[in-house]
Amino acid sequence: MDSPMMSDAAPRDSLYDLDFASLAKRLDADGVNPAHASPLWYAMYRQLQLDLTANMDFPPPLRRWIQSTSPVLALPPISACVHSTDGLTRKLLLRLSDGQEVETVIMGYPGRHTACLSTQAGCAMGCVFCATGQMGFVRHLTAGEIVAQVMAARRLLQEHGDTGPRNLVLMGMGEPLHNYDNVMRALEIISDRRGLNVGPAKISVSTVGIVPGIRRMAEEQRPWNLAVSLHAATDAERSALVPANKRWPLAELIDACRFYCDQTGRRIFVEWTLIEGRNDDLATARRFISVLSGIDAHVNLIPLNPTARYDGAPAGVTRIDEFQHLLQEAGYPCTVRQRRGIDVAAGCGQLRADKAAQGHLTSRQTTSPAALRQ
Ligand code: SAH
Ligand code: SF4
Repeated sequence: MDSPMMSDAAPRDSLYDLDFASLAKRLDADGVNPAHASPLWYAMYRQLQLDLTANMDFPPPLRRWIQSTSPVLALPPISACVHSTDGLTRKLLLRLSDGQEVETVIMGYPGRHTACLSTQAGCAMGCVFCATGQMGFVRHLTAGEIVAQVMAARRLLQEHGDTGPRNLVLMGMGEPLHNYDNVMRALEIISDRRGLNVGPAKISVSTVGIVPGIRRMAEEQRPWNLAVSLHAATDAERSALVPANKRWPLAELIDACRFYCDQTGRRIFVEWTLIEGRNDDLATARRFISVLSGIDAHVNLIPLNPTARYDGAPAGVTRIDEFQHLLQEAGYPCTVRQRRGIDVAAGCGQLRADKAAQGHLTSRQTTSPAALRQ
């Protein structure tokens, strides 16, 4: 396995790291009226301004503060941008201040866009079929680096005359609940009504099944949707695909899901990557149904995206239909997630892994990164 690129440079503090209250507090601490957080927030998140020194509408004390502190408000440069052949999916590789690269995917649907965000560089969970897991863990993303992905997506869409992204899924590189505090702060910033205003119901956090994180989200009444990646219905099968299962086995995970549903009164989304001959047979579907018993769940089936270091294949179309049908008959809403932009390696971590393997991007690169650089 290639060793992930490590760097000594710590990510720089950015204004995108601060939620509204912290920004007001910071101004206050620097002797500036905290009420000036409002125009600053508006400029950052509604007007998408990056060069705050150029803003002549700010009150003079705020302008002086900006001049003297030169706050960092940089978007990560786009080191690659690939478009799928269907024209609906754009995948960005963003270069962070320490040289790490993470993926953000923008998926177009009729009348809206969804962005898929990364929460870590690499991932410590090691799921065998996942390109990010195959890379290993490098570091957590800061809250600002998560927010900056939404800003980059919003600016890119704006340049193309579009709005959004209206929906966000934390299903890019990394395990969100392994980076709990930064992820929650980022989501608070992103859903702040005075700024980006992405509705909490339009945001989904996907976890491999970190039980303490699920319980904490429930206890803290976090308003985002929760998706749990299950993929198998016995401990032996799940541990072979998802090593985190050894730490938080199925019974504990299902208990936590029940607790989440009871505490929040909301349904849970359950992800199941369908791998031919591995977890796509109908006996497994029946076991899956019994594992879900009593849980208000919506199931998403994801046909496997093949990756370099896992030789499984996606389940066949007929089998996917049968699997879906069984779940639906048992009363579970069940959708098959489109494999959007599979030609741009839209599976989590695949673009970065491909780039590392090839040393460069091939003909799939259709947009000059320089043209998109902020
Ligand atoms: N770490 C989180 C979120 C990122 S992965 C999690 O595991 O839930 C988002 C989803 O993509 C997960 O359900 C994951 O199992 C799935 N996934 C990862 N690699 C995949 C692949 N090669 N093919 C299909 N699904 C994959
Ligand atoms: Fe990490 Fe999720 Fe990939 Fe598993 S599937 S290795 S948890 S990113």
